[in-house]
Amino acid sequence: MSDQPKPGSRIAHAGEEAIESLTEPLVAPIYQTTVYSYPDIAAVDDVYERREPGYIYSRYGMPNHRLLESVLADLEGMDTGVATATGMSAITSVIFGLLSAGDRIVASNQVYGGTRNLLDQDVQRLGIEVSYVDALDLEAVRAALDRPASMLYVEGITNPTINVLDLTALSNLARECGAPFVVDSTFATPIHCSPAQHGADIVIHSTTKFIGGHNDVAGGIVLGSEQLIDPIRQLAIRFGGVGGPFDAWLVLRGMKTLALRMRQSSANAMALAGAIQAHRAVDRVRYPGLSNHPQHATARRLLRDGFGSMLSIDLHGGRQAVETVVRRLEMIKFAETLGGLGTTVVHPATTSHRSVEPEVREDLGIGDGLLRFSIGIEEPEDLIEEVTTALDAVRRQ
Ligand code: PLP
Repeated sequence: MSDQPKPGSRIAHAGEEAIESLTEPLVAPIYQTTVYSYPDIAAVDDVYERREPGYIYSRYGMPNHRLLESVLADLEGMDTGVATATGMSAITSVIFGLLSAGDRIVASNQVYGGTRNLLDQDVQRLGIEVSYVDALDLEAVRAALDRPASMLYVEGITNPTINVLDLTALSNLARECGAPFVVDSTFATPIHCSPAQHGADIVIHSTTKFIGGHNDVAGGIVLGSEQLIDPIRQLAIRFGGVGGPFDAWLVLRGMKTLALRMRQSSANAMALAGAIQAHRAVDRVRYPGLSNHPQHATARRLLRDGFGSMLSIDLHGGRQAVETVVRRLEMIKFAETLGGLGTTVVHPATTSHRSVEPEVREDLGIGDGLLRFSIGIEEPEDLIEEVTTALDAVRRQ
């Protein structure tokens, strides 16, 4: 063999040397590699047995995920976390990582439609019993937990009904029966609420939403103690629902402005809620910052620095009124998501909760006239004017 490999071989391995530099990158690099090489067989043992830090293969964990996990675990006051491809893969990993056939999960009946579908279809199909409960009714939760349960699952601020659950009381009930208390805190974000301080054992976020914050990346995260997260991580590795490094990088980049964004969008939501609550086209504004919100006192106790950016309204005119409002909105987009920079609105009865039985929707208070807004960072005057103008059009019908 000649001194140097031929050009074809050199090209095949081009750019693989570690970068030498006395200085450090100011922003985390994107580790766009699916796999890592070992120096020798002893290193394999050291990395697998966690005696030395090291990465093996992207599905088992990667630097961009680790960065995101440690930042969010720190923010939520938890030991550790596992980043996933979407919010739904975070939820799936929690349920299937911790529960087995024959177990029973007590779940709030007010959860995101996708979570409800997972519980109704796959969780039950695989032999895990699901008992729904009105988590605002603590006596009902106590009664549901009278029978052995392996998990209590809720969303801290409910979707799309914007109720605020009493996490402290719920965590006490879960603890009495020895069930881990799982809180999807996507709506509240770590800026407004720290579920762990109120007894949550596991916190979930769809980072697609406020944490990513720009409607350009999907992701999810599960946070908790080492002991609870370990089986969840193993399940996530086996199920394979992990995102790529660039996705995690985008989430982390978006997250840097989370506090600023939430401050502005929560203040906007408060201003809009106050401005439209007496509008004659509106039956009810559901916003926890309003003193007439049924859980305003709970919200004051559990939420800080504002009451969040999610706001729902019930229109008097049902679906027809919804059509009018949605057609009139220009800056505010009618789009099936939440948590972006710009305000969006969604009609849960025909989108997120479309596959929920109409009677169940009715029971949950998700009527045809319900519109759910995710308030963005626009100037409050513009938001108020646009929504008020759209509501005025309903009055003129
Ligand atoms: N949790 C809540 C409260 C949500 O609203 C959603 C989606 O809208 C999810 C979880 C699922 O997140 P993803 O769409 O990232 O899978």
